[in-house]
Order: sequence, then structure tokens, then C-alpha cells
Amino acid sequence: MSNSLSNINQQQLTNWVEQALAKSSLGKLPNYIPLLAEANPKSFAVVLQTIDNQILSLGNLETKIPLMSLIKPFLLFYLLSKFGNKSVFQKVGREPSEKPFNSLEQLEVDGGWPRNPMINSGAIALSSLLLGNTATERCKNFCFWLNNQGNCQLFLDENMLASVRSLPNQNNQAIAKKLVECGYIKDAEITLDTYNRICCLSGRIFDIANLGMLLVKPSNYDWKKYSSTVQELMTTCGLYEASNIYAKEIGIPTKSSVSGIILGVVPSGGVIVCYSPPLDQQGNSVAGLFLLGEISRNSHLSVFC
Ligand code: GLN
Repeated sequence: MSNSLSNINQQQLTNWVEQALAKSSLGKLPNYIPLLAEANPKSFAVVLQTIDNQILSLGNLETKIPLMSLIKPFLLFYLLSKFGNKSVFQKVGREPSEKPFNSLEQLEVDGGWPRNPMINSGAIALSSLLLGNTATERCKNFCFWLNNQGNCQLFLDENMLASVRSLPNQNNQAIAKKLVECGYIKDAEITLDTYNRICCLSGRIFDIANLGMLLVKPSNYDWKKYSSTVQELMTTCGLYEASNIYAKEIGIPTKSSVSGIILGVVPSGGVIVCYSPPLDQQGNSVAGLFLLGEISRNSHLSVFC
């Protein structure tokens, strides 16, 4: 039985992509960030990259894609590598959430304690740990580290940032206010500005695949440990309240984002990155989820197999 990304061939990938794209019309573009609402719903890209750097790819490979929530696992990884478990998990929990990724209600039910780093409240809380005096500096320092360690060329998409700011996100503002009230962050404004900036870090799908390889090929013992923590949280929380369903159906650590990217990490195997903007109700790319499911099932990639 083959259980490896490297056994997949271009023809198989093309067939699965065709099926995935047929499903994407079931999804909708997000409406709360104007530039994402204007994305081409037919835009599509996929990259499979193995641990020994074999690559299969298809689609609009040069499109620049904002990471949005895909920054969250890397924010967690970066902070764990800088400050260790104790400091990081004083700011954020490790439990799955039941409500949508931007839910204030979830935070209120939990008395202001952010459930996990894969939802907005958790990532906003963690953004406050980034080093630098200003939001600009914090984002720059983080981006520099990601590009160095991940061998990629992420950049801040200023147009996307302007678009995010053009419709102030009242959910995120209320979340930040609540986090201040409960003592988890000090300054709502600078923290939210930092969070918005890091969500607008962007790159080509190959940059995102290289970044994902950081989790597959951590360079020392501590990073291996931290990568396992990140992968655990991607599995239990990466697709928000739908995480448990896909833990079964896909069976590999997965993170989605409102821009339509999905990253699947195949432990000791490689990464699968898919970009298709139409989203399901939970904010996960419809085609991306389908494709990851097909690849995982057909190649027996599930860690629960
Ligand atoms: N920046 C987006 C937000 O705060 C990220 C959310 C996402 O990708 N799901 O809503």
C-alpha cells in the first residue's frame, strides 16, 4: 500500500483538481474584506511538496495570496521558538472551539480566555507577544524571521491592509477590547494593528509551501517539539468548529484561511497547499477541503490510518 505524497502523479492530481473545482461553486466569497470579495472565484493553485523537495503543481502559480489565518500556526511556532511553552500558553488555551473563528461570544463564554491560537481571539492575544516598538516593526521582524527560516519571500500587501482597514472589523475590535479588560493584552490598538498586518503578509503558493516545510523539517530538537504542538493544534482547531469532522475525513494537520488557502502538513512527508477562494459556512475553502480529502484518502496519508 502506498502512503506517500511522492507516489502521486500529475495526472492523478489533475483529475482530483477537476473534481474539486466542480465543487467550488458551492462556496461563497467572504464579504467583510472588500479585496477578498473581489477575488476571482475560479482562481486556483495547488502545490504538493515532499520532504525531499519533489514538487507537483497546477494552476495560477504566480498569484499573490494573503495568508490571513494561515499566519496563525506560524505565529504560534515563532513564539514557541522564542519564548517556549510556558509563556505562550499563559496567553492562550489549547482547546477546540465550537463557535465561528471570529466569535466574541466564544470569548465571553470562556471569561475572556482565548480558547486556542487558531481562532482570532487566540491569534490576537499572541500578536501582543511579537517583538518591536510599533505594529510596523513587530510585523517586519516577524516577516524577516519567516522569510529567513522558511526560505520564502513573504511581503506585506499594503493594498490588502488598506482593504482590511476600510471596513473596520467590529468583531475583532470587541475581541481585543475584551482581552484588554481581562488582562491578556495591554494595548488593543497596537495589538490589532499588528494582527491585521501579519494577516496581510502575502506570497506565491510556492512561498507558502516552503513556509509549511518549516513544520515538516524543524531544524533542531526544540523546534521538533514545537512543530508537534503546532500540528496538534492544527488538527484539533485549524478548521475552527469543523476541525473534528476533518480530523477524521482528512486526517492530517490542516489550517485554512479566509483568503481560500489551505495548508495540509503530512508529518515526515511534506505539504499540500491549495488555493481556491470560495468558502463554506465555517470559512474553509470548499475545493481545498475536497482536494485534501481526496489526496489523503487515495494516498493513505491520514495519521489515523
Ligand atoms: N484577518 C482575518 C480576520 O481577522 C483572518 C481570519 C481568517 O482567515 N479566517 O477575520
